[in-house]
Amino acid sequence: MQTDDPITNLINAFSRLPGIGERTASRLAFFVLNQPEDLATELAEALVRVKSEVGLCAKCCNLTQGELCRICVDPKRDAASICVVEGPTDLRAIERTGEFRGRYHVLHGLISPLEGIGPDDIHVKELLTRLQTTDEDEEVSEIIIATSPSVDGEATALYLSRLLKPIGVKVTRIASGIPIGGELEYADRVTLSRALTQRREI
Ligand code: ZN
Repeated sequence: MQTDDPITNLINAFSRLPGIGERTASRLAFFVLNQPEDLATELAEALVRVKSEVGLCAKCCNLTQGELCRICVDPKRDAASICVVEGPTDLRAIERTGEFRGRYHVLHGLISPLEGIGPDDIHVKELLTRLQTTDEDEEVSEIIIATSPSVDGEATALYLSRLLKPIGVKVTRIASGIPIGGELEYADRVTLSRALTQRREI
């Protein structure tokens, strides 16, 4: 909500960010106000640029500045296995383990029957299209479902395995080690890397 008061506007804008309450929003607003102008300029420019320059990879829906992301264009990455994750932060977490040399598919959400989020609300269709249209040298033999072991993460994994198995592709799920109900992006490197190597077929 825009008002005539620029400070109120900034506080309102900060309050819309996740994990930021009104008190923190006020603190941030007054901090920015008291800093030299270049901080405000840098912040404003970075915010505008991230929205205008970053889009979704045409192949895997990862965030990218070009048409395809750096993982999809990397010839050293194994095109035969695709790791399906909820969001870009999960992709980053798995990349940090250094354990996975395949490619990804980013769903940008999870299926949540309770919240009315269905397969059409996340990027499932793109995965299906991708499997049906890949070139011969990019044939996919395994889909690793690396969603969090939460209710929605399990619902999504189950849906995907039922959808993908008839295509004749092996579908695996990352092993436990990730606490039930836990968030993938907060798992430590060793736990996540073990979960990946001990994945099982579903
Ligand atoms: Zn990509």
